[in-house]
Amino acid sequence: MNRIHIVSNRLPFSINVDNEKIDLIPSVGGLATGMRSVYKEYNGKWIGWPGLPSDDIDENLSNKIDTELEKEDCVPVHLTKEEVDLYYDGFSNRTIWPLFHYFAQYIDYDPKLWESFVSVNQKFADKAIETLEEGDTIWIHDYQLLLVPEMIKSKRPGVTVGFFLHIPFPSFEVFRILPWRKELIQGMLGADLIGFHTYDYQRHFFSSVRRLMGYEISFNQIQIEDRIIIVDAFPMGIDYDKFKNAAIDIVQKPLQEKSELHRELEKYFLLSPDRKLVLSIDRLDYSKGIPNRLKAFAEFLEKYPEFVGKVTLIMLAVPSRGTVEHYINLKSEVDELVGKVNGQFGNINYTPVWYFYRSMPFESLIELYSSCDVCLVTPVRDGMNLVAKEYVASRTNHTGVIILSEMAGVVKEMGEALIINPNNTNEIADSIQQALTMSLEEQRERMVFLQDRIKRYDVFKWASEFVDSLGKVQKIQHSLHAKRVNTHIMEKIQSSYKNSKMRAIFLDYDGTLTGFKKKPNDACPDKELHELLYKLEADPKNIITIISGRDRESLENWFEGHKINFIVEHGVWSKKFGKEWKMLTNATDTWKSSIQPILESFVDRTPGTFIEEKNYSLVWHFRKAEPEQAELRANELKDELRTMIANHNLEILEGNKVIEVKTGGINKGIAALQFIKNKSFDFILAMGDDWTDEYMFRELPETAYTIKVGLTHTAANYKVESVSGVRTFLAKLEE
Ligand code: UDP
Repeated sequence: MNRIHIVSNRLPFSINVDNEKIDLIPSVGGLATGMRSVYKEYNGKWIGWPGLPSDDIDENLSNKIDTELEKEDCVPVHLTKEEVDLYYDGFSNRTIWPLFHYFAQYIDYDPKLWESFVSVNQKFADKAIETLEEGDTIWIHDYQLLLVPEMIKSKRPGVTVGFFLHIPFPSFEVFRILPWRKELIQGMLGADLIGFHTYDYQRHFFSSVRRLMGYEISFNQIQIEDRIIIVDAFPMGIDYDKFKNAAIDIVQKPLQEKSELHRELEKYFLLSPDRKLVLSIDRLDYSKGIPNRLKAFAEFLEKYPEFVGKVTLIMLAVPSRGTVEHYINLKSEVDELVGKVNGQFGNINYTPVWYFYRSMPFESLIELYSSCDVCLVTPVRDGMNLVAKEYVASRTNHTGVIILSEMAGVVKEMGEALIINPNNTNEIADSIQQALTMSLEEQRERMVFLQDRIKRYDVFKWASEFVDSLGKVQKIQHSLHAKRVNTHIMEKIQSSYKNSKMRAIFLDYDGTLTGFKKKPNDACPDKELHELLYKLEADPKNIITIISGRDRESLENWFEGHKINFIVEHGVWSKKFGKEWKMLTNATDTWKSSIQPILESFVDRTPGTFIEEKNYSLVWHFRKAEPEQAELRANELKDELRTMIANHNLEILEGNKVIEVKTGGINKGIAALQFIKNKSFDFILAMGDDWTDEYMFRELPETAYTIKVGLTHTAANYKVESVSGVRTFLAKLEE
């Protein structure tokens, strides 16, 4: 792979200026650790804000900082105080953050913040574009830069773009609240690979893409014109060995070398066997559920009084976003609650909550992780939560219990934790009691599983998996453009056609032999098509089959007089020339009664739409409805049906202004295979334009010539651009 560059809001250094002397202090956070290995290994640059507002430094100093950063392969994006205020503190942290964490009541909708977000994202994109060369790869990080992928892609389509979101992606019902929801989705869709921490966030994202944009999604791929976007879950890890080794060091240190914090902990707790410590560490953020945690701890002391005097909660709250109103209020609430718990349960010898409102150096964190018996992680929403993983890595004696909120992304990897609902203070209180009384044997059993898993998928593995996927998506994009039928390919197919004795030719109808028409009755074949088919049929070696989703009657009428076979209703019925209609598989229709009411509710809510009942399918037609509303409803319907079809072995097909639900296990692929079974065709050709034809492309033997109409992603071997391309192609076969 060529160079890989990183773009994130902050560069991986903080800058210390002392009397014109500039020091770059490397950041130690997870992102910096993971990405440092990537951009160094792939000779890339790191593009980001250096952390000092540009109006705080004069030009001379700014140039010097740039020179220092350049030595570290960093490209600074300078931001003014106002930009930091509007784009970072503003739209990023006062609009997107609360929205994506389901705090809709805290969202700031000020259009000024949005405008700044757009222009600062453009600044990042411009810097990246200056840095990029054709064929490079770029990996963009997080919610502050949601628009950058599209801004880069539109200028540099040849660059492979990755995007990773480090926070949750909310459900569509929440996401839609934002006036600029479409713009954000469009921005993200500039990426070729989009990563989330969990599959749930990925699912929510798909739902928004489907409902807002109406793009086709199959498995984890979104198809847009001639591009494919891969979306996947990559749960971010930590530098496991760093935490583990630091914990081992601390345990082995001679007493005189131990830290001040250790001596304090030892004095009050560690030497008395019945004193226990519960740990909580997070930024002071409303998403972290800190007030509930304190209430739950009070409830625990109330409900289990035998622990009063014996159990202390060490609560480290790191100051964060202190200028934003909701954070200031939260600080007061937490201060008050700590005072209340300590006042109610404390005495001269006992302080139930040891509260630190500051950040601590790495060694102190390890000290806390390795000394505390229980780690209490109770966010009401959290993209991942690395503290939980760091606690696990620091437990060198394999004991300790994690109490974990089901709302944290990390819960997907930590089934062995005690899992709680962060709004259920009674459940948290009981879990604290359960954790404190859990046998060491059970603790070890759970912890060893957790440690194995978190160690295996560490931050380096996370980064390399993402990079590998970038490589894969790059290959897919290249192959999309490499498949067009050119003169050379045409000659190859012509020669194979000429040398064959018996040919099976499968042709889809709408979108392949003929273009889409406004009214269904206009879709009948034109003179040119009739003549083309007559010519092909005249060759006795050709066995031509029209394979379509349409019903029997239309096709039979339109092609009266042709020597043609039919496979219709996506494979339910077939008819050989001169023979009767035959059902190809034993389709059932018992599912109709459960799907019909859903379609009916959409008919009721969407004037102009109606349901057509076919033998083995139900079709919702929205051609006559108000177009914009109908498109939205169609996306909504698809989304709703998707959860239903898994239980019923059904498939959803999308046609021209229709959505069709049909029995699964019958498709054009299976039908085409049955057709060629036991016959010795030495030339097989299949042409089609939509995803129902993909079944045919996948199922037919490898030697078949499968040709997709249109330039989007396909399992077919080749592509032609349009219906007229199909006609030219077919005409050339007989030349
Ligand atoms: N952390 C820190 N100093 C402190 C307390 C915490 O550097 O005084 C680190 C902690 O080790 C963890 C990170 O802050 O890596 C918090 O990450 P998490 O995913 O738990 O929450 P976020 O703050 O990203 O929402």
